[in-house]
Amino acid sequence: MTVRVGVIGVGMIGQDHIRRLTQVIAGAQVVAVTDVDSARAEAVARDLPAARVHASGQEVTDDDHVDAVVVTSWGATHEEYVLGAIAAGKPVFCEKPLATASAACSRIMDAEVAGGQRLVQVGFMRRYDATYRALKAVTHDGSIGAPLLVHCAHRNPSVPDFYTADMSINDTAIHEIDLARWLLEEEITAVSVRTPRRNSRAAEGFNDPMMIYLETESDVLVDVEVSVNAAYGYDIRGEVVGETGTVSLADGSGVVVRRDGAYVGRVPADWRERFVRAYDVELQEWVNSVAAGGCTGPSSWDGYAATAVAEACTQALRSGERTPVSLREQPDFYAKTH
Ligand code: NAP
Repeated sequence: MTVRVGVIGVGMIGQDHIRRLTQVIAGAQVVAVTDVDSARAEAVARDLPAARVHASGQEVTDDDHVDAVVVTSWGATHEEYVLGAIAAGKPVFCEKPLATASAACSRIMDAEVAGGQRLVQVGFMRRYDATYRALKAVTHDGSIGAPLLVHCAHRNPSVPDFYTADMSINDTAIHEIDLARWLLEEEITAVSVRTPRRNSRAAEGFNDPMMIYLETESDVLVDVEVSVNAAYGYDIRGEVVGETGTVSLADGSGVVVRRDGAYVGRVPADWRERFVRAYDVELQEWVNSVAAGGCTGPSSWDGYAATAVAEACTQALRSGERTPVSLREQPDFYAKTH
């Protein structure tokens, strides 16, 4: 079966996912697109022979030719479009964040539960990265003992002028928040945020770097360094410290050159380079699950929990206090979705 996909929001990642759906992965066809910028939607559709251009997200979700929906619009619009897809009974892949507030994520869960079937997958693509999958496998195979600590670093070379300290949490650290839950298979119960000396490359008043501390149900402590003005490249690090050993992501990818008394490897330029395969695998698995009539991958509960933890982090950033995370009761519907 070819899954006929409608895409809502054809900006940077929307166009990248369309390239993936049409040129990289199997079993999908893009049959509809929309964007608030209709000229952009028309331009993107010109390269997609089967695609109609719609005037709104609702028209995409309601289109009878659309089997499944990809939401890649601006975060604040996600709730409306995901609810629209659920109302139409169609599977929906929504880029992170599922919604910008935990209350909105909760409304999505309520609608999905009321409809009686899982339809939503959230774009937490690091779960599909081969190195993170290997990290998780070792964490749980008993070879390093019970996990005690997780060290993470998320370094971006630079960010646009509009970027804020809240976005360092909601937009950047949200990946580590999801990863910590997925990797350890437990929820985060409390958070703290510390801000050291400011990088002089950061805008005035912008706390960069910041250190985020996540405490889990079994008292594993996860520290996340977020640096969004790191200059030298896009550098993602992760290490789990267990009772008898450690496991960490290997440095970089590709080759190391030894020359002139030095050895040199490549630091990826950005997230597209570092995680290119993870996005491919993520969308292929989504298309496969839709074709099989189901929905797997990060769920609405995962999207909700990550947003709730991010909300607690922004509160902790302002107050300087350790802040508990309060989650609603998990509907049975989402049990064992890690
Ligand atoms: P972007 O380039 O600004 O794209 C967003 C697109 O959606 C733009 O074309 C925007 O149009 C359009 N849009 C905005 N409001 C809309 C509406 N009401 N209806 C339909 N289209 C609308 O942003 P992006 O970088 O692609 O990010 C999109 C989403 O993907 C964000 O939620 C972001 O967090 C997420 N993302 C995830 C990852 C990841 O690693 N998983 C990486 C990058 C982005 P205008 O430009 O005219 O506003």
